[in-house]
Amino acid sequence: MSFRHALVTGANRGLGLEFVRQLLAAGSHVVATCRHPGRATALNTLAGEHPGRLHVLPLDVATPKSQDELARELPLVLGEDGRLDLLVNNAGVLHSGERFGRLGLANLEDSFRTNAAGPLLLVQALAPLLAGGARVANLSSELGSIGATSRFGTPSYNMSKAAQNMATALLAHALRERGIVVVALHPGWVRTDMGGEGASLAPAESAAGLLRAIAGLAPDDSGRFLDWRGRPLPW
Ligand code: NDP
Repeated sequence: MSFRHALVTGANRGLGLEFVRQLLAAGSHVVATCRHPGRATALNTLAGEHPGRLHVLPLDVATPKSQDELARELPLVLGEDGRLDLLVNNAGVLHSGERFGRLGLANLEDSFRTNAAGPLLLVQALAPLLAGGARVANLSSELGSIGATSRFGTPSYNMSKAAQNMATALLAHALRERGIVVVALHPGWVRTDMGGEGASLAPAESAAGLLRAIAGLAPDDSGRFLDWRGRPLPW
């Protein structure tokens, strides 16, 4: 399955940038969003190499006003009848170094806004622009799995991804009658700014696996939690 029109959030670095590269290589028309397009050097270079096939637009996923502006601008890029076949909610934040006894509200609020409320509200804002049968891929984490929790971890991150997982399950219901498939995806431990240099997977390997898993989704898979090899994870 190939995606004619795809949109990726947090596309300026890490896994988001790799999604953009691979979608372009597969022939998709890509809308790459990031907080500061003017500073997104790698994306702007790619846009020069793929004239007319890569559009870089501003989006702060944690800000509804920014989402609404994107929803207004998108039809100009997709064309009057253009619709998104794939939405990758990739942008995410991890505040590391949290310790029990020293937790504060700021990290929890920021993570919840970005990792949980962000994808939920963005899908709502862009729902009219999703094609029937489109795929929505929410980048989750096994750290958001309640069933797989084995240590204290990073509460702001783990809790926000668990909340995002619930958003995925709810969105799957909201969009089912339009044949839109919504999934939560764990990318593995990936060598990015977030994953660190010691991580086991290259971004290219993770993104390729995730895109393969997304392409292989059937309508009945909507609302599932899968890893980058397409294997199910416990909620
Ligand atoms: P990085 O930290 O390398 O990149 C995060 C991206 O998200 C950046 O582009 C960043 O933009 C963007 N971002 C953060 N906040 C916002 C916001 N409010 N609005 C728009 N963009 C924002 O992370 P990865 O590439 O490693 O992670 C991608 C996704 O995969 C995340 O959702 C993450 O939680 C998930 N994941 C990653 C794992 C890993 O091992 N790397 C493991 C499990 C899950 P900016 O440059 O402006 O900060």
